[in-house]
Amino acid sequence: MNFDYDVVVVGAGPAGMMAAGRAGARGLRVLLIERNARPGRKLLITGKGRCNLTNNCSVEDLLAAVRRGGRFLHSASAAFTPADTMAFFEGLGLPLKTERGRRVFPASDRSVDVLLALRRYMEAGGVQLITGRVSALATREGAITGVLLKDGRAISAPAVVLATGGMSYPATGSDGSGYALAEAVGHSIVPPRASLVPIVIAEDFCAELSGLSLRNVTLSLIKGKKTLFCEIGELLFTHFGVSGPLALSASSYIEGSPDDYRLTIDLKPGLDADRLDRRLLRDFEERPNRDFINALGGLLPRSLIPVVVRRSGIDSDTKVHQITRAQRIELGRLLKNFSLTPVGLRPIEEAVVTAGGIHLREVNPKTMGSKLVSGLYFAGEVLDLDAYTGGYNLQIAFATGQAAGGSVGGEKL
Ligand SMILES: Cc1cc2nc3c(=O)[nH]c(=O)nc-3n(C[C@H](O)[C@H](O)[C@H](O)COP(=O)(O)OP(=O)(O)OC[C@H]3O[C@@H](n4cnc5c(N)ncnc54)[C@H](O)[C@@H]3O)c2cc1C
Repeated sequence: MNFDYDVVVVGAGPAGMMAAGRAGARGLRVLLIERNARPGRKLLITGKGRCNLTNNCSVEDLLAAVRRGGRFLHSASAAFTPADTMAFFEGLGLPLKTERGRRVFPASDRSVDVLLALRRYMEAGGVQLITGRVSALATREGAITGVLLKDGRAISAPAVVLATGGMSYPATGSDGSGYALAEAVGHSIVPPRASLVPIVIAEDFCAELSGLSLRNVTLSLIKGKKTLFCEIGELLFTHFGVSGPLALSASSYIEGSPDDYRLTIDLKPGLDADRLDRRLLRDFEERPNRDFINALGGLLPRSLIPVVVRRSGIDSDTKVHQITRAQRIELGRLLKNFSLTPVGLRPIEEAVVTAGGIHLREVNPKTMGSKLVSGLYFAGEVLDLDAYTGGYNLQIAFATGQAAGGSVGGEKL
């Protein structure tokens, strides 16, 4: 049979572009189909428009940051490591820089430069890009024969890489349609759920604190007596609860009813209870006639003070010299265990990544090839893989894209 292309890649996100470029570099005739008029819409909004494209860490640290699917990722991650991602982009003329938490960004701080580098890679490999929405995979006797588009076009190819992403931020194009495409040819789907998603909090004061970003605080997520997550970093209050890197990472540990969980913030992780008490005492002794409400400015951001004062049970106009030792110790405890009550997660549409997806037991971890349908490959978030924030999710997209693009094509022979 004469095919139109050697490979069709569905979805021009980071995983699809990487797979298409790699297959093109190997001399294959590659068609990349993207439903949006422009590729990489989600890539452009990553890292608040700066694109945290990988994490400058070892393969072991990368796999430790993978929430689900770490074992599956071993060989693809060893074959295309975070260091390889960095060398890859620098080789395409994109200077990089590493920031706090080993997060890697383009030196320009512009995600569009990452997209342009991927486009150069694809152009060098002669990849053709068209706009269209794939509505079905065509198969015959258990093997891929091409794709059908929603507008009626049919394109024949002996191999397809499905890189349609998850279903968060659907306005970017990733609306979960890839799951149905794979399901229709026999794949099972682990039900998609939100991961890395803001947490809804019962306490009303979150709305009052909306916009406040706390840096260098420790957030703990506790279930029963077990601490499931405890990290230092940045937390953002929003009108409904908490967001920012710490809350997003903690969210991926919440399963089932949020009622079983508790969040606590250590507002002063650099001071143990004794040192914090000495600090409070010193502040109070410096100006003993100050009202309590005016005495915490050195310790806390301004908008948080009324909330802490209310929660402390000490009247705001109490003179600090009247505050008893017991009250001060209780205040210290409050600052180190500022509790929040999770009541839910924001919807999957607002999640940074989707947990769930194509079942990994049906995919070859070296090649990303389907074990069920010959000529079908997967790359990126459409798979049941997800990791914490820090550039790990894009690293997964790039590594699985490289694996799929590097393996696809045997079918042509
Ligand atoms: C706000 C936000 C910030 C993020 N920041 C970071 C970050 O800084 N670092 C990081 O590592 N990760 C980040 N992520 C996660 C990261 O963006 C994703 O993990 C990554 O984009 C997944 O890549 P992908 O190629 O698998 O899927 P996607 O990027 O979702 O691309 C899939 C593409 O497929 C297309 N498509 C879908 N269905 C069809 C169809 N039927 N036919 C044709 N085309 C189709 C879509 O339009 C889309 O362009 C962020 C995510 C969000 C939402």
